[in-house]
Amino acid sequence: MNPPTTIVIFGASGDLTERKLIPALFSLYTKDRLPTPFHVVGMARSDSSDERFRQDMREALETFGNGEIDTAGWQSFSQSLDYVQGDFKEEESIKELRARLAAIEADADGKGNRLYYLATPPFVYEPALLQLGDNGMVSTENGWRRVVIEKPFGHDLASAERLNEVAHQVLEEDQIYRIDHYLGKETVQNVLVFRFANSIFEPIWNRNYIDHIQVTVAESVGVGHRASFYDGVGVLRDMFQNHLMQLLSLVAMEPPASFDANDIRNERVKVLSSMRPLGRQEVLDGSVLAQYEGYQSEQGVEPKSRTPTYAALRMFIDNWRWKDVAFYMRSGKSLTTKSTEIRIQFKSVPHMMFPGASLQAIRPNALDLCIQPDEGIHLRFEVKVPDETSRMRSVDMEFHYADAFGPGAIPEAYERLLLDAINGDPSLFTRADTIELSWQWIDSVIEAWESDDAPELASYVPGSWGPVEADQMLASEGAVWAMGCVHE
Ligand code: NDP
Repeated sequence: MNPPTTIVIFGASGDLTERKLIPALFSLYTKDRLPTPFHVVGMARSDSSDERFRQDMREALETFGNGEIDTAGWQSFSQSLDYVQGDFKEEESIKELRARLAAIEADADGKGNRLYYLATPPFVYEPALLQLGDNGMVSTENGWRRVVIEKPFGHDLASAERLNEVAHQVLEEDQIYRIDHYLGKETVQNVLVFRFANSIFEPIWNRNYIDHIQVTVAESVGVGHRASFYDGVGVLRDMFQNHLMQLLSLVAMEPPASFDANDIRNERVKVLSSMRPLGRQEVLDGSVLAQYEGYQSEQGVEPKSRTPTYAALRMFIDNWRWKDVAFYMRSGKSLTTKSTEIRIQFKSVPHMMFPGASLQAIRPNALDLCIQPDEGIHLRFEVKVPDETSRMRSVDMEFHYADAFGPGAIPEAYERLLLDAINGDPSLFTRADTIELSWQWIDSVIEAWESDDAPELASYVPGSWGPVEADQMLASEGAVWAMGCVHE
């Protein structure tokens, strides 16, 4: 008999488990992509049982799944779901978990592979790792052992270093899967395919042709029910340190020699280590932090909170390819619409040969990589207006995933990430050095904005595109924020 593969979910009564993990695992199951035999053991302190857990997960699937549920498929999948009630910090609970795992692995002479998934609040990661180590649960004698650690990985550089230290006390680096679900998105992975599986873009992907690059992660919702978590965390820690830095590293990296996880991760880390370090004044001159009006009255937010819900930053990558090309990064809550996109803004043509038109009359080419929700790619170029001698207009050439592959073709990011972790491919997970470098850079921005003489946060109207100060920052450098993926 094949040794079983078991996913142990710590935090099985939580939101992530019902919203993302179980729907992703069930979808993989129906696509026949999971190893057999396969089991899920959920653990949390809440009172439940195998039967109740299965029922709860079935209801979750109805709410968060991707459509009609294959009843027969669910019937057999749900038989592999178990629940262990307990606090893994307690001896008794760990004993019960070990007994459950031993029963699953008994038919294979005690052999079995295990993926431990830490879907708990972040302060629980450290005790959970230590508990796994102390109880010999990550020893690889009888099969592989891997641990997925959810985001956020640390609150700043010092806490991320500390968490890495604890993880390395217990595990080898190749057993650690630090997740940032952005990397599981098809369109994020497509940045690599677009750049390195086509020959026409890479030759112009540099400072000679590109004027600047923008990365936008806009959310239309406010803090809502996450207010008490979000307040004190803010947009820099919640979005920049992970998602925006990941997007930046994929757009700016050098071509890796192969698709091997280490080659890709080495190139990503080189981008972060080439980011220009900024002094306090440079940070303040090249960034805008803001809060949406009404944020301080949200339930769970401190009345005089200085937590930013919006940030726009200018950064530079000091290497041969990108020297002095500005990367404008922004993210915010309560903006006009939800959209994640990357704008590659090309330079203007050097000379105007058409009579009667000025250089300013034509817009430079732009390429928009639309990450979500309308996944695709748009390329803007100039065309001649028919029946006019030399009048030009910009048009968009658009590719939409939904048109090319049909609606619903794009799977949930968690499907890909869970499968990669099961198959031992860490390419889309973040290595210790990458996490620490990105915290180091973000910490310098946070420190500047938390210094005693830092300026007041700007403010913006919910439903707008953010504070005017962010527009002014770009305008002073001859640029404007682009929303090339959103047709208003
Ligand atoms: P929830 O608060 O909904 O769930 C947390 C889970 O952890 C619950 O099952 C809870 O169960 C368990 N838990 C809480 N405290 C302890 C403790 N002291 N000891 C043991 N278990 C504990 O959080 P989410 O599911 O939303 O998030 C989990 C992690 O995933 C977080 O780190 C979050 O940042 C991350 N994440 C979540 C996303 C989402 O969509 N929800 C998206 C991206 C990341 P019980 O109280 O029964 O023990």
